[in-house]
Amino acid sequence: MEQRQLIIVGSGPAGWTAAIYAARAGLQPLVFEGADAGGQLMTTTEVENFPGFPTGVQGPELMRILKEQAKRFDVEIVSAAVDSLKPVDGGFEIISQTQTYHTAAVILATGATARRIGLASEKALYGRGVSACATCDGFFFKNKNVIVVGGGDSALEEANFLTRFASKVTVVHRRDAFRASKIMQERAFANPKIDIVWNAVVIEILGVEAGHVTGVRLRDTVTQAETERPIDGVFAAIGHEPNVSLLRGWVDLDEKNYVKTKPGTTQTSVPGLFACGDLQDARYRQAVTAAGSGCMAAIDAGRYLDEIKK
Ligand code: NAP
Repeated sequence: MEQRQLIIVGSGPAGWTAAIYAARAGLQPLVFEGADAGGQLMTTTEVENFPGFPTGVQGPELMRILKEQAKRFDVEIVSAAVDSLKPVDGGFEIISQTQTYHTAAVILATGATARRIGLASEKALYGRGVSACATCDGFFFKNKNVIVVGGGDSALEEANFLTRFASKVTVVHRRDAFRASKIMQERAFANPKIDIVWNAVVIEILGVEAGHVTGVRLRDTVTQAETERPIDGVFAAIGHEPNVSLLRGWVDLDEKNYVKTKPGTTQTSVPGLFACGDLQDARYRQAVTAAGSGCMAAIDAGRYLDEIKK
């Protein structure tokens, strides 16, 4: 069994920032990149709001640069996912493929996954008019018509945000009432650029042959009638799932399954286990906030390791 002092699980902005800080603090971290190395930014096109890139940067390029920066320091990178993680005698056991590690501290940065509608055409057109992030991609829909799928706060927030760019935003919701808070509903109802299609689900996104979104096929959930509607963009805002499969049953999660951390820190309910990035943040979910919390996790882990050495 290989002995380490700090293992970082995840390779999005939180994971790489934690790695940079931990390595510079002399903690010689080992980073598991995971099955989806780079995380959600790998499926984003242009990132225009990450500070330091005045002309923007492509999501995958940003992740390449962050990894490159981490590699300047004493960081060991394993291009594999962690199969199991559990607490053992004052530390943690991590099993990945054929290797088993024991480590004194762990930083978890496994992120969250945007729920997808689950259509083949959605997959084919992802990044070509299909998006799960209005903040990231809304700007590309200036004077276009888009739909937002969902009926929660995220859907209505994204719909409102998109009206800054789009000429018309159509919210498609599978029921006849929104789940979103009253204030978000009132804002959406009052916005002249938003219209709503109730009782409908998207059953196909059109434009696979054209290589970009040209429309959607909707099914009425009451009458089952199918209709087509021309559209330039589809934003799915049907929630995110934090990637917590390694933690179920032994780490405190909140009611939405996000990892609970002590306010103002990255400390989880288990001493020596730190969580950063989207895994513990249902609220901001930005690359730069994830990176910031990665820095916090490295500092918290460093202090913890100092403490237990004493
Ligand atoms: P959410 O509240 O879980 O809402 C998801 C919405 O997507 C629901 O309306 C749901 O429909 C719909 N949906 C789920 N799966 C679907 C599918 N396969 N096909 C079509 N529709 C589907 O998620 P959220 O809106 O991301 O919000 C998550 C949490 O963050 C909430 O607690 C929310 O209040 C909070 N939040 C707050 C703010 C804010 O305060 N400004 C902004 C964003 C998020 P049903 O309603 O029929 O279930």
